[in-house]
Amino acid sequence: MRRLTIFGKPVNVVEERSGHKPIEFKDNRIVVRNYEGSSSLIKDFLTDLLYSELCSMHEAIRAAGNVEVFGNLDFEVVEKIDGKKERVAKFKGNKILVKLNAVALPREALKYVVAHEIAHISTKRHTKKFWKVVVAIYPDYETGQELFAKARLLNSRKVGG
Ligand SMILES: [Zn+2]
Repeated sequence: MRRLTIFGKPVNVVEERSGHKPIEFKDNRIVVRNYEGSSSLIKDFLTDLLYSELCSMHEAIRAAGNVEVFGNLDFEVVEKIDGKKERVAKFKGNKILVKLNAVALPREALKYVVAHEIAHISTKRHTKKFWKVVVAIYPDYETGQELFAKARLLNSRKVGG
């Protein structure tokens, strides 16, 4: 049995014979029906999960209307960013690249990552103006920042440095 961390919570991966879907979330577990080939199945599943979480965070930020976020902004879940282990996310073109292992981050930490990258759309460097945008997006960003730092310490290899 495998154990994963999803949005800060431990989740078991179990095998079941019955059922139709090759993989699903059920009773707070991930149920797979072809354990042999489950590795890429799980990877795709987590990619979709992270992508939809990022999209709904972006949607919530847009709906709050505190900052202007471009309508065509998109996310891409990737395995590597510039070959740099410590990088979790990067703004590139009209996309925010987010590393797949960020799926382990608690939602507040992930929200901080999203706010941080959106703020980079208007300001490259971490200037006062930059942090003003972060605060506008996520007033309590320090909570997420702290959780993010903690998650990195706890699980530096999984979450990235
Ligand atoms: Zn930054």
